[in-house]
Amino acid sequence: MSRPTVKTDFSGEIPKGTYGPAMHLTETLEGWRNLRPVINNNICNNCGLCYLVCPEGVIFDEKNKMDIDYGFCKGCGICARECRKNAITMEKGDAANE
Ligand code: SF4
Ligand code: SF4
Repeated sequence: MSRPTVKTDFSGEIPKGTYGPAMHLTETLEGWRNLRPVINNNICNNCGLCYLVCPEGVIFDEKNKMDIDYGFCKGCGICARECRKNAITMEKGDAANE
């Protein structure tokens, strides 16, 4: 079985620019979600790791309280997986408009 050839010339295949203007999300992603992340702010110590690992950049700090923009959260669960305090749980039910 032959190995796939690794291309070295991707010219013409790489999208020009980001998928949204200046990396701002232009389409809501809540429809992707099966589970939604819920932050327990009684456990959270505001370390900011979830913000750093969220691929959509939708976790934010609001007056020293971490929150999630559910309109753009795709429910991947990376934040819950990486939180060292186990302050984020993935729960059933939608909160797209919360
Ligand atoms: S990673 Fe966990 S402890 Fe840190 S800010 Fe996020 S929810 Fe809070
Ligand atoms: S579930 Fe994924 S997209 Fe949603 S806040 Fe967590 S890391 Fe971000």
